Amino acid sequence: MDYEAVLEEVAAFVRPLVGRGQVARYIPALACVDANAFGIAVADVDGGVYGVGDWQTPFSVQSISKAFSLALVLAEGGDMIWERVGTEPSGNPFNSLVQLEYENGIPRNPFINAGALVVTDRLQTLTGDAGAATLELMRAESGNRDVRFDLEVAASEGDNGDRNAALAYFMASYGNLDNDVPTVLDHYFRQCSIEMNCRDLALAGGFLARHGLRADGTRLLPRREAKQVNAVMLTCGTYDAAGDFAYRVGLPGKSGVGGGIVAVVPGRCTICVWSPALDPRGNSVAGVAALDHFTSLTGLSVF
Ligand code: GLN
Repeated sequence: MDYEAVLEEVAAFVRPLVGRGQVARYIPALACVDANAFGIAVADVDGGVYGVGDWQTPFSVQSISKAFSLALVLAEGGDMIWERVGTEPSGNPFNSLVQLEYENGIPRNPFINAGALVVTDRLQTLTGDAGAATLELMRAESGNRDVRFDLEVAASEGDNGDRNAALAYFMASYGNLDNDVPTVLDHYFRQCSIEMNCRDLALAGGFLARHGLRADGTRLLPRREAKQVNAVMLTCGTYDAAGDFAYRVGLPGKSGVGGGIVAVVPGRCTICVWSPALDPRGNSVAGVAALDHFTSLTGLSVF
């Protein structure tokens, strides 16, 4: 497939939507990002990578990191994590507290903030440095050793992190965190602050398209666990818009409030799109539209 031509067409199609929506302001360090940026990249399973627009401009990965920390927990600790976090869509905003009380401190899924905090806690127990483990996976799979934390973004989120702190303390009260809350929050904010571009993220997600095989051909995840991550991305990766995302895009996808989305075509390729203006549910407006157009043009969806 001539990915570059497809991506040019996708970029032209979504141009009128770029800048529609709001950049995330609740993390002050993200409020100054250019709302008019747009980039998209495709990484083929055989290593080819193609992109257009601002595909080489770094951005804050935010919740996209949750798919990678989950993969590491499954790789290092197996399926025990599913006793502490569910696999059902929440139908609620990503930072919601409401279901935790009814469900005894067990978050609905690993991609809402509550679930991601449990995953980070488990990764901290398994590795002793959850943030560094996630960063190392990003560096290794993208092949870019310069991928780094943006500690200013992490600190900015920490200074405005009352909601995440509330989620963490509430789950700790049910015994669903093993590490102390400040440690879990610190590693969570650092993993969210990782800065990458579309090219690096598309490459880094390649193991999800290769049924668990890393870029160097070794296995990160058994096929079963790779399937699990993709399935939960499809049903929960875009929060309370996951139904709409599945219906429009038809791929496992994980979004972040930095405006990025990683989507996976199992067996074929990984796509990363970035445009910072978000819809009210925290997903990139132009990003979702671009993926919708990409899968409609190419037929590369799971449906
Ligand atoms: N770090 C952000 C938060 O915890 C991530 C949210 C997101 O990208 N949806 O609020």
